[in-house]
Amino acid sequence: MNANLNQIAEMDRNSVLHPFTQLKDFANGKLGDPTIVETGKGIRIQDAHGNQLIDGFAGLYCVNVGYGRTEVAEAISRQAYRLAYYHSYAAHTTDELAILSDRLVRMAPGKMSKVFYGMSGSDANETQAKLVWYYNNLRGKPNKKKIISRERGYHGCSVVSGSMTGMSFYHDHMDLPRAGILHTGAPHHYWGAEAGETELEFSIRRAGELETLILREDPETIGAFIAEPVLGTGGITPPPEGYWEEVQKVLRKYDILLIADEVITGFGRTGSIFGSQHYGIEPDLITVAKGLTSAYFPLSGAIVGEKVYKVMEEGADRVGAFSHGYTYSGHPIGAAAANAVLDIVEKEDLPGNARKVGAYFQAQLKEKFAQLPIVGEVRGVGLMGAIEFVADRENKTRFDPSLSVGARVSKAARSRGLIARAMPHGDILGFAPPLVTTKEEIDEIVAIAESAVRSVMDELVQAGER
Ligand code: PMP
Repeated sequence: MNANLNQIAEMDRNSVLHPFTQLKDFANGKLGDPTIVETGKGIRIQDAHGNQLIDGFAGLYCVNVGYGRTEVAEAISRQAYRLAYYHSYAAHTTDELAILSDRLVRMAPGKMSKVFYGMSGSDANETQAKLVWYYNNLRGKPNKKKIISRERGYHGCSVVSGSMTGMSFYHDHMDLPRAGILHTGAPHHYWGAEAGETELEFSIRRAGELETLILREDPETIGAFIAEPVLGTGGITPPPEGYWEEVQKVLRKYDILLIADEVITGFGRTGSIFGSQHYGIEPDLITVAKGLTSAYFPLSGAIVGEKVYKVMEEGADRVGAFSHGYTYSGHPIGAAAANAVLDIVEKEDLPGNARKVGAYFQAQLKEKFAQLPIVGEVRGVGLMGAIEFVADRENKTRFDPSLSVGARVSKAARSRGLIARAMPHGDILGFAPPLVTTKEEIDEIVAIAESAVRSVMDELVQAGER
């Protein structure tokens, strides 16, 4: 490392508070020097030492159009020169913002009406909660405010979105979840099903548990249910058969809004433009972020359905202005980036690529990993997939967490030039490559992953852990 890079690493270690990082391990060097990421092209990034890595996770499931897209960079630069900023409060707009909003309302599933913009998935879900509360206040239902999410769901890390997130390790020591946010069982058949229970039976049971929770709390106190069409950070788990149909029946019965958190699944990842379309979900509110700009600019949206919006507009005479908004709501550079990204999504048919190349990817994952003695389940949809490692396939027992099997496989992949993410909740290796990934690149990803998995498997056998 030359002097400059050493200095950068030192400045980073001294001054950056890194998200989701073991602070002491980072401070004392146990996590190694920070990787200084410098450039990216296609599905690859390059660090300051010239090392290339295949990004099998598209950053954090977000760089869907791949790195180094000059069309997007130029759109951003053009807008920055023309008009770097103006707010969108009280009847101000920009051409890029109006065009983007019209586009999103038409693209989105169901009868959508308006888009409210933020900067991250977390703040968009925070907005969704406020919309639910506002809607029910305006309807004269001031008690209908609680929001149900699912164990293993991930919806962000701000106060309400962090409470919606159904992972205790993101709550502990942070005074979360806050009151009024409840959790129901995860739609995770592999770990959640009882012996011999089919996917459909399991889905019916989960929907029944949801109904029991609603009745226990009193349906007049439940405002909304929020869920990802495909469980993302909770283990990249597609819904079990019949899940969405059964859950939606319950929500309709009790007049409960459905918020589809499409932060990962939006804009093609499942093979459909939205995960909602893929699974027959009819949301009232939709959260988008990540793929909206492919992370070229921080931009998120809370897409508001007609049913909710109508009540908001009708109530305006009584309550005055809709008093919610950020300085950067509808940022023109973000809107320009999103329009350029959506042009690529459409022109290159990225949902179609996720469907076609994704089918090949899923087949390869199954073929190369499903039969390995340390693999319990291989799952996924489109261009998102996961391998779950277990100590005993027959009895479904997890590895001793101290063996860090998932983290070791991820590290082994990384040392071979592939980023694949060790996910929480056990030993899971997750993949979510950019939606521009080709079949040949899938072959590279799978080959490296296979070598990494086999190397850790050999270590475990040698150590007598298998
Ligand atoms: N919802 C989902 C489904 C997510 O995956 C994420 C981020 N991984 C978020 C919300 C939060 O988004 P952000 O990190 O941009 O706040």
